[in-house]
Order: sequence, then C-alpha cells, then structure tokens
Amino acid sequence: MAANAKKVFDYLVIGAGSGGIASARRAASYGAKVAIVEAGRFGGTCVNVGCVPKKVMWSTASMREALAEAKGYGFDIEVKGFSFETVKEKRDAYIKRLNGIYETNLSKDGIEQIKGHAKFVEKDTVEVNGQLYSGKHILIATGSYAWIPETPGLREFGTTSDGFFELEHLPKKVAVVGAGYIGVELAGIFHFLGVDTTLIIRHDSILRTFDPIISSTILEEYRKAGIKVVTNSVITKAENSGENLLGKKNITLTVDNSETKATDSLSGFNELVVAVGRRANVHNLGLEKTAVRHDKNGYIIVDEYQQTHQQGLYAVGDIIGHAQLTPVAIAAGRRLSDRLFGGMEGRKLDYSNIPSVIFSHPPAGSVGLSQPEAEEKYGKDNVKIYQSKFINMHFSLQPPEHKQPTVYKLVCVGKEEKVVGVHLVGKASDEILQGFAVAVKMGATKQQLDDTVAIHPTAAEELVTMR
Ligand code: FAD
Ligand code: NDP
Repeated sequence: MAANAKKVFDYLVIGAGSGGIASARRAASYGAKVAIVEAGRFGGTCVNVGCVPKKVMWSTASMREALAEAKGYGFDIEVKGFSFETVKEKRDAYIKRLNGIYETNLSKDGIEQIKGHAKFVEKDTVEVNGQLYSGKHILIATGSYAWIPETPGLREFGTTSDGFFELEHLPKKVAVVGAGYIGVELAGIFHFLGVDTTLIIRHDSILRTFDPIISSTILEEYRKAGIKVVTNSVITKAENSGENLLGKKNITLTVDNSETKATDSLSGFNELVVAVGRRANVHNLGLEKTAVRHDKNGYIIVDEYQQTHQQGLYAVGDIIGHAQLTPVAIAAGRRLSDRLFGGMEGRKLDYSNIPSVIFSHPPAGSVGLSQPEAEEKYGKDNVKIYQSKFINMHFSLQPPEHKQPTVYKLVCVGKEEKVVGVHLVGKASDEILQGFAVAVKMGATKQQLDDTVAIHPTAAEELVTMR
C-alpha cells in the first residue's frame, strides 16, 4: 500500500507517447495541473521503435537507391562499403536527443513526470512505485505492442519491429512475415540495404486494405527488385540451428500453402521478423478496477469524444485500436484537452479522411476511400475513376531496371465529381499527399483540381491534369 499521501492532479496522463505527451502539453497550456506517467522511454513507440528510427532506415535504403541511380546521371561512383553500425549508432544518438527534448519540454510546461508503471487501484487513482496519484480527469494513452502468434518456434526465434531496431549488424538473409505497413516497410529496407529478403504473406497480395493500385504496384516493384514474396503461406513451425542471438540465427520455416496445399521448408534465415499486427498495452493496468470496456484484443472502447465507459476516464491513440498513426494520437489528444480544459465544448477528432504513407520503395500514400470502398458505398455507376501511370522524369536517364513507375488514382463520386479518394504510388508520393489530403478534407471536386494551375515539371502536376 502507498506510504505517502495521494497526489491529486487536474489531469493525469498514463503513457508519454505521441498521444499522451500532446494531450498533457495542451492541457498544461490552459493552466491545468498535469502529471504524466511513463514506464519506458519518453516519446513512446513513434520516437523509440517506430516512425522515427524507421524513417532513418528508409532514408538510408533510399540513399543506396540514389547511389545506384547516380551512374545514369553521369557520375562515376564506386561505393566502397556501407556501415550499418555507423547508421545505428547515429540513429540511437539522435533518438536519445529526442528523448531528452521531450522531457525538457514537459518540464518547461510545468508537467510532473512520474517514471514507472501505472496501475489503477480505484476508478480515479493509479499506483506507481507505491505512490498513489489521482486525477479529476485521467487519460489512458498506453499504446500497443507488436504481437506474435503462438505458432511453435515463432515467439522463440522470431522478433518484432522492436528487435529490428536492436540489430547491431545487418543479417545476410531474412524472412519478414506480414502484409501490412510494417512488413512491407521493413522488407523494403532490408532488401535495399543488400539483405537477401523473403516476404511471407498469408494471402496473394500485400497492403490489401489499400486501393488496388497500391497493393499491385508495390508487389510488382518488390518482385522486380528481387524480394522473394511467398504468397498464400502460413508458417506452422520455426526451428533454429544457429545461436539464438539477433542476426546470428539459422532459421528453418515450415510453411503451408493454402492454394497448392503443399508444405514447404524455407531455410537459412539469420533473422525472422514478424509483423502481423499489434495488441493493446493493457497488461497489469488494473482496468478491472474501472468500468472501462475493451474488445477481445484489449483495445479500449471509446465514444467520439474519446470517453470510455468510466466517467472521467478517456483513451486516445493506439490503445483504441484503429488508425494507429502518430498524428492521429496527437490530434485526438490535443482536441480532448481543448474540450476538457480549453472551453471548446464539442471539440473532437473527425476520424474520416486520414492520410497515411507507406514508406516502401517506391513510397505510396493514400487518403479517403479506395475504389472498391467507394463503389460499395456509392454504387459503381456513381463512381468515376481517373488513373494515370507514367515514368517520373527523374528516371528518364536511367536504364530500364532503375525506372520506377508512378501510378496515381483519383476516386470521384456523383455528378459534381467530388474527390473522395486520392491514391499515389511513386517517387515523392510521401511528400505530395499532404496537400491533396487538405483538398479531400475540404470536399474538393475534380473540376477544382483541374482549375488549379500545374507546377511543371513535377510528377504531382499529373494530379491536376488527369482526363
Ligand atoms: P505510444 O507512442 O506507444 O505510447 C504509449 C506509452 O505508454 C509508451 O511509452 C509506453 O511505455 C507507455 N505505457 C504503457 N503502459 C504503461 C503503464 N501501465 N504505465 C506507464 N506507462 C505505460 N505512425 C505514423 O504515423 N507514421 C509512421 O511512419 C509510423 N511508423 C511506424 C513504424 C513502426 C515500426 C511502428 C511499430 C509504428 C509506427 N507508427 C507510425 C505508429 C505510431 O508509432 C503509433 O501509432 C504511435 O506511436 C501511437 O502513439 P500512442 O501515444 O498511442 O502510443
Ligand atoms: P497491419 O495491421 O498494418 O498489418 C498486419 C498484416 O498482417 C495484416 O494486414 C494481415 O494481412 C497480416 N496478418 C494478420 N494476422 C496474421 C497472421 N496471423 N499471420 C500472417 N499474417 C497476418 O499491422 P502492422 O503490424 O504492419 O502495423 C501496425 C500499425 O502500425 C499499422 O496498422 C499502422 O497503423 C501503424 N504503422 C504505420 C506506418 C506508417 O504510417 N507508415 C508504418 C508502420 C506502422 P493480410 O490480412 O493481408 O494477411
């Protein structure tokens, strides 16, 4: 039981990740007395084992692509080597600086930082290291963790994206399991850094929840680049005859093919990265002391105002189980504080038309409805598709093997041709999408895109000139 008197705050935030920090700082800006509890490193998944180190690695892999393209532009370049170890060291140091910046910013805002694991002991009180803390309002922003199925050997010899960021050296040969954002991004990074890469997926395509131009183009490009994509396959057993250390394994996978009904053996992997989705961080959180309800994977159920089934308790970010993206956690957290402490009654996040980017090679981005989703919602006859496939001018001096396609699609509905979906694959799509997401959010029509004068010569100009 706690020895000291209970400390009481206006706002108690559990989890100093993207959502928790953003919400805590916004609340403090309105003068609320705020505390934030963190069991691990400040910044959460995004900063430590997510977006930030991933983007560094994607940029590293993209640098290697650029070096290969340099010859096409007349440069006589000999790449004498690549030090993964140097990148890892610099990346870790960068993240450490970011951790420090987060802590400093919280201190500057007068937010009390509590280091340790929070557990509810009452509906409005948590215990951390034997001390009790309570909040008039409490935010649960504890995020999610990478999940590995209970297949024999998979948890023992496989690792997750967290393990990927712990690698000290590049393995020679890897297997990546999973057809979503993480599987596709990590397989791309490994391959373009020179690792022999196999991507194992349980259906016949990757990124299946995205528009078909994204899933089919990225799959085709990955295969063309030399990534082995093993489709319709589920691992039934993983065995290791090497040392069970990151990158030093010698893994053999038994794989069942649902199409051919054959059982195959894939061997010689020094690493096995499993990226088949995430689960809620609710372990030992003491939610049973509250009226908070969650689904079968632990994800907390909230209403449109982030309110749980327990009055005064809220949840934002990965812990609510959908749109698991950093800017979503931040936006929901800030709006919640605007409402609770900033007098903005009714303020909430609109979860529609959330843009996101897959940092693949080439990158892809998407906002709004895919073609199949739009056809289902509005009927095929009410949907008009504009699509364009071309080679970005950047690749015009490249030999065929280095020419990457760009594919754009606009999904429009009704007589006015309102743009309800924008889907991009190709160089710089990661940077192009944001502006078009604004247009979609504002309800732009195809005519309004056409009325915008193009910027030439760019790839993005195609989006305002499609016929
Ligand atoms: P988190 O950032 O996970 O923060 C939760 C915090 O709560 C953690 O620090 C944890 O230690 C702490 N915590 C948990 N339980 C307790 C407890 N009981 N007591 C105290 N503290 C606790 N999103 C993008 O938008 N773009 C990307 O490019 C992108 N790339 C990604 C790449 C990878 C490999 C991964 C894994 C994720 C990526 N994401 C990306 C997703 C993004 O990282 C998450 O959506 C985001 O971090 C969620 O923020 P959050 O605040 O909900 O949770
Ligand atoms: P995702 O949900 O994106 O993808 C996981 C995929 O794994 C599923 O699409 C599914 O594909 C497949 N899968 C699920 N269960 C199994 C299973 N038992 N065996 C084999 N395959 C399975 O999860 P991720 O782990 O890739 O990423 C988690 C979240 O993190 C993302 O949803 C995203 O919100 C966020 N993120 C965002 C990034 C970005 O913005 N760039 C980057 C990385 C992560 P299928 O059904 O086709 O088999």
